[in-house]
Amino acid sequence: PLVLGIETSCDETGVGIVRGHTLLVDEVASSVEEHARFGGVVPEVASRAHLEAMVPTIDRACEKAGISLNDIDAVAVTAGPGLAGALLVGVASAKALALGLGKPIYGVNHLAAHVAVDQLQHGPLPEPCIAMLVSGGHSSLLKVSDITVGVDPMGATIDDAAGEAFDKVARLLGLPFPGGPHIDRTAVSGNSVAIDFPRGLTAKRDLERHRFDFSFSGLKTAVARWVEARERSGEPVPVADVAASFQEAVCDVLVRKALDAARSEGIEDILIGGGVAANSRLRAMAEARAADLGIRVRVPRPGLCTDNGAMVAALGAEMVARGRTPSALDLPADSSQPVTTVLV
Ligand code: ATP
Ligand code: MG
Ligand code: FE
Repeated sequence: PLVLGIETSCDETGVGIVRGHTLLVDEVASSVEEHARFGGVVPEVASRAHLEAMVPTIDRACEKAGISLNDIDAVAVTAGPGLAGALLVGVASAKALALGLGKPIYGVNHLAAHVAVDQLQHGPLPEPCIAMLVSGGHSSLLKVSDITVGVDPMGATIDDAAGEAFDKVARLLGLPFPGGPHIDRTAVSGNSVAIDFPRGLTAKRDLERHRFDFSFSGLKTAVARWVEARERSGEPVPVADVAASFQEAVCDVLVRKALDAARSEGIEDILIGGGVAANSRLRAMAEARAADLGIRVRVPRPGLCTDNGAMVAALGAEMVARGRTPSALDLPADSSQPVTTVLV
């Protein structure tokens, strides 16, 4: 099926077009620069930017894919979770398109779409698999048996999301927003064992209750204390070493727990998705440690990890292919949609 996907849950206006597992086009217009001076995404600014970018982005996507809107078999849209006003722009646009074209609409979960996108690069999803979703707002381990039906949560962060930790640590190191990519680049020239930062929820007593959960706020505080102590002593802060050591701590915990989840379920495939999956150290570490255990790891290329419309189209195409009932035309946008609701 030829499916057009619309993504507006945060600050990216994404329109993607796929044919089955084949990506035709992925157009993203971001308002990130308008938010940078505030150090975080401003919801009102994001909503307005989506409104302005929506029609031109759809037009550009169709033109680049060499299709007319009439060729589309279905429209897919992020129904949640995300910023309420931002989601509404995407959902309203998708409804208008579906109604105007007389085509079905699928309101899908943004987090499940972060997982499904991998099929555009590596082919059919390995099911069952363990999906590790690491993004700006979430850090979860999920067991996925059929991505169009639901996911079983195994664990999640009990405080900050992984991406949030990257962004907060970047900020205290004086790096621009969003900080994840900057930490990644800065860490390349740093020493990852220079500072021994804490690995949250990995102590024996924590594992009893939180085997597959994450905690990154203690790590963030540890980095802040370390940097403050340095500044007080008048010595320069070795930014690259701090970035590399922090990144190592995050990736170490993520990879350890993902591998543990796979082994505990007897599953041999791990899929990593979400913006933090773009991290070069996470990708390398996951691949190396999984290979030692005979576990396969799939991570989409960085451009497909961060928010985009292709991921929504990919999940929509899977809904069509597996014969799922489309959403009603009055489907709601749900800013706090749980990860377990894949289709509304
Ligand atoms: P969610 O998907 O939970 O709703 P979101 O959509 O805002 O949140 P994504 O776009 O999936 O989040 O991911 C953005 C996050 O990914 C940001 O926190 C950003 O810093 C982080 N990120 C992007 N690239 C990298 C990288 N190379 N290394 C580490 N973090 C990264
Ligand atoms: Mg973004
Ligand atoms: Fe996202």
